[in-house]
Amino acid sequence: MAEHLSISENMIPKHILAAIAAHRRACREPMAAFFYDLPALAAHGRAMQAALPTGVELYYAIKANSEAAIIDTLAPVVDGLELSSGGEIARACACSTPRPWVLSGPGKLDSDMHDAMTRGVEAFHVESLGEVARLQAIAASLDHLQPVLLRINPALPADLSSRLRMAGTATPFGIDEAQLAEAVRAVDDASNLTLVGFHVHAMSHQTCEQRHQRLLASYLERWPRWRALARHPERVTQLNVGGGIGVNYLQPSSLQPSAQFDWSGLCQALGERLATMHEPPRVRFEIGRFLSAFCGYYAIEVLDTKVSHGEGFLVCRGGTHQFRLPAAQGHDHPVIHLPRDPERAGEGERQPWTVVGQLCTPKDVLSRGQELQGVAVGDLLVLPLAGAYGYNISHADFLCHPRPEQFFVRSAHESRELETRDQRHAEPAS
Ligand SMILES: *Cc1c(COP(=O)(O)O)cnc(C)c1O
Repeated sequence: MAEHLSISENMIPKHILAAIAAHRRACREPMAAFFYDLPALAAHGRAMQAALPTGVELYYAIKANSEAAIIDTLAPVVDGLELSSGGEIARACACSTPRPWVLSGPGKLDSDMHDAMTRGVEAFHVESLGEVARLQAIAASLDHLQPVLLRINPALPADLSSRLRMAGTATPFGIDEAQLAEAVRAVDDASNLTLVGFHVHAMSHQTCEQRHQRLLASYLERWPRWRALARHPERVTQLNVGGGIGVNYLQPSSLQPSAQFDWSGLCQALGERLATMHEPPRVRFEIGRFLSAFCGYYAIEVLDTKVSHGEGFLVCRGGTHQFRLPAAQGHDHPVIHLPRDPERAGEGERQPWTVVGQLCTPKDVLSRGQELQGVAVGDLLVLPLAGAYGYNISHADFLCHPRPEQFFVRSAHESRELETRDQRHAEPAS
């Protein structure tokens, strides 16, 4: 089959192509399924970890993808997990490699806070003054001394902004810098809480390494001032700088993370900056998207081709109810065409297509303007970069379609096994 691979098909690892083909053969209906490349996920996590400056930590923000196999794969290669709900606590605690974990997020339930404390949460990221009071009451009822970080919503220069802002503007997240002194005092006065640091998760979709570097520099510049607000500044040692590293979905010259955001460059600049500081904080990243996006592939089968008012449509199995990411971000997701008959690859007319799903709404668009050659009913389209905020943010029950299967491909060997199984055995690993 290799000699028929088109350039873009070459971007998909062979074991993923094999798993897709195997599932395809096992399916009685046209397919729509997710495939996750676990060895690639582990390798990417290890590479990100290896690039960190000394003393800087990497946590995985599991809301990007909290499937058990994803957490089990990343947990051994990162320093810990960042969680934001009771459900995520349950998933993290079921992980085969226990790791330290922190609890963030607005709207924490008392029961979540209680649960977190009894299950050994490392620290809370406190989002408001009200939360300080509730957390103190729960810690006191358990006779427990709880480390906390205060989440700050700092003022940000406009040029450091990205598409999705969590700070520097009115948001439900964190405590305004103007209120920080009051919040620090409230924690200092809370007998069962101890302030160990500050947390800032200001944005998402940051694709510019230079800008992110400047953003981190702006936190480090303010760090001594924030720290000086505390009654015991010597206990305030941690600066969690959040996640927010973006993925360029629009022009992926490569599906390799190394061809995208310059993570090593960011880490190196951060290391140099920390080396110049008197009493630098222990810096921690909590990354979601940039860790898990690259390992996922959403493979869908073309059900129909048609032209409407001059525009070509490929109607596919599945849709935005299974992969809401492009609709949520308003982008045209990249599409890789796998002809049903590899002999036909490179044949037929090249034309732009709008790729849609099965939903009875004009919003069910996965991609517009995709130049594809000789597409026919029964061919597969593969949407890469589908490992973060893909299936898990989707409204999968809309229109009562069945949920897509998810395959967690562990090795080239395993995908060969999958090939030989029948439908009964080719069950999703979730
Ligand atoms: C979502 C989130 C993250 C991860 O963000 P990414 O953009 O996926 O890296 C980190 N920290 C907090 C508090 C979050 O809400």
